[in-house]
Amino acid sequence: MAVLQELTSQQAIDLENKYGAHNYHPLPVVLSKGDGVFVWDVEGKKYYDFLSAYSAVNQGHCHPKIIGALKEQAEKLTLTSRAFYNDMLGKFEQFATAYFGFDKLLPMNTGAEAVETALKLSRKWAYEKKGIAKNQAKIIVCENNFHGRTISIISASNDPVATENFGPFTPGFITIPHNNIEALTQALEDENVAAFLVEPIQGEAGVFVPDEDYLKKAHALSKAKNVLFIADEVQTGIARTGRLLASCGNCNCADKNCSGTPDVKPDVLILGKAISGGVFPVSAVLANDEIMEVIKPGNHGSTFGGNPLACAVAMAALEVVRDEALAENAEKLGQTFRAEMNKLIEKTNLVKLVRGKGLLNAIVINDSEDSSTAWEICVALKENGLLAKPTHGNIIRFAPPLVMTEEQLKDCVAIITKTILEFKK
Ligand SMILES: *Cc1c(COP(=O)(O)O)cnc(C)c1O
Repeated sequence: MAVLQELTSQQAIDLENKYGAHNYHPLPVVLSKGDGVFVWDVEGKKYYDFLSAYSAVNQGHCHPKIIGALKEQAEKLTLTSRAFYNDMLGKFEQFATAYFGFDKLLPMNTGAEAVETALKLSRKWAYEKKGIAKNQAKIIVCENNFHGRTISIISASNDPVATENFGPFTPGFITIPHNNIEALTQALEDENVAAFLVEPIQGEAGVFVPDEDYLKKAHALSKAKNVLFIADEVQTGIARTGRLLASCGNCNCADKNCSGTPDVKPDVLILGKAISGGVFPVSAVLANDEIMEVIKPGNHGSTFGGNPLACAVAMAALEVVRDEALAENAEKLGQTFRAEMNKLIEKTNLVKLVRGKGLLNAIVINDSEDSSTAWEICVALKENGLLAKPTHGNIIRFAPPLVMTEEQLKDCVAIITKTILEFKK
């Protein structure tokens, strides 16, 4: 088969099945084009994207400003490694630290790498600044977390699918229930705790939004014990939840629409996914000087981290978020979406509830955790022109690009409503 030959959907699926590791179970749709809130399959059928590559494509597919920055930079310089300086990294670091209100940024590529970076940073800080005895540092994490796929990160996971037969695991994690202040208070009694790592809203677990004051209290408790509060905002960050960050509170970020819980400013902020608008793998860890200064030359790095192409793309992607007021749009459309889903819930027993913030939402299907109902609904949604994916249990996550218009959202609500009301097992 010639490489450039156009494939049918079935041919493309067969190739992946035959030659690729089976580490995902995709919905049976093969995409070859994207523009804004839409994607097209190889047969030319058009769909609303209601997943946004797990919230990486918040700015919409192939945003012209981001693609323009990519093209322009690609013709000049793509990679120097950090053996030399390049003329883009400093600009990006200045831009992003001002944007999010931190002293310094450490650039990486994927979300998992940024989480690893934050774990290493907080351990080193614990030994050199807090005075924890060598190799004793612990990091508190929450049950049902998702922070990525490396061995150290899955060592902090309680998901058997993600962990089984991947041991031995990295020690030094304490797991507590999410959204449980009492459990956190108890865990913080251990003097060897370096950090509390938390997703402000648990995305993969099924879009679990904690109590209104949870983050604020968790942050204050951590501060009182000289423990770093690390926010993994790889999925919730960059306007997804109707504010620049789900946890940003009164940070002096650039987003005038930011209405986060006051007083929650993470000590360490982890970003990925939408920091590049889904155009290129870019991730970052942000912190202030007294934390970031423990990292010295040779301690940590990545060949591609901070490459000029990534820097150009990320600056353009963050400008789009601000210029197009995407946080504000996510907030407004999110309200409409949940109100419309609640109307649907009144008409059917198939959906138990809708929850979320901004345009990070999920509906819970009224069936057993291991039934395939959510999957079958997603297949039916696909037939009707909307792409979404079940997440853990019987939950469907709904996370369209944030550039969606009110009219498009209404159209999507109509597709979801019709599909669910007509759905027969
Ligand atoms: C996706 C995600 C990660 C991992 O990012 P990758 O780029 O897939 O490595 C980490 N944390 C959260 C909260 C995520 O949603």
